[in-house]
Amino acid sequence: MQGILVNAAAANASSPAPSETTDRVIDVAHLLGQFNPATDANFCEVEARYANRKGLYLRDEVYDAFKQMHKAAKEDGVSLGIVSATRTFNAQKRIWERKWTGARRVDGRNLAKTISDPIARARIILRYSAMPGTSRHHWGTDIDLNSVEHAYFESPAGRKVFEWLAANARSFGFYQTYTPKGNDRPQGHEEEPWHWSYCPLAKEYLKQYVQKVTSDNLRGFKGSETAAQLDVIANYVLMINPKCLSQEDR
Ligand SMILES: [Zn+2]
Repeated sequence: MQGILVNAAAANASSPAPSETTDRVIDVAHLLGQFNPATDANFCEVEARYANRKGLYLRDEVYDAFKQMHKAAKEDGVSLGIVSATRTFNAQKRIWERKWTGARRVDGRNLAKTISDPIARARIILRYSAMPGTSRHHWGTDIDLNSVEHAYFESPAGRKVFEWLAANARSFGFYQTYTPKGNDRPQGHEEEPWHWSYCPLAKEYLKQYVQKVTSDNLRGFKGSETAAQLDVIANYVLMINPKCLSQEDR
């Protein structure tokens, strides 16, 4: 018996190292946010000094990179705080359905009462909220920093933070995901100065997302029937800062 175990160990030692891709197989549940980051071995809780509340989780390597960036920013007199990190499918579903049903107003409107066409209603919500199953926050690679209000980033304090991030975040692996709309990003979610993505890992998630997820996987929430018609994967998931795309996604 012992001999067999030794031979098995020797066979493993001589087999080739797994490739980058097979090393990091991401299952569909993790791509769609259908898991619990609090009990997942690859995720850790963000310490209070880096966040505005408890219970925020990130992938370990993303958190390590963020801590480096936080330190460098602090040395330059810029304070970075995470206001949103990993969100599960159910968390995103709550955000989406509150807007869908009118429980939360969007631009002062109750969408359930004012927009009866499901496609039109989904389009309005999609300006700033991802459909459940399509949020990059499911991956633990993306963070919202300091505030999710444009007014903050237009203030002197917010402008200073954004300018620091625009100049320095990439050297820690972070990129603004939803850059201003333009030739290289004609559609998709509106510009978000607060949303930053750790691209070394997020690119891997996106690559596998495109391979494994279709609009058939996007169900279990109000308005999910609009996912296919709006082609949300092409028109939102892939409509990001081109620097966050790998060669294969283009
Ligand atoms: Zn975000």
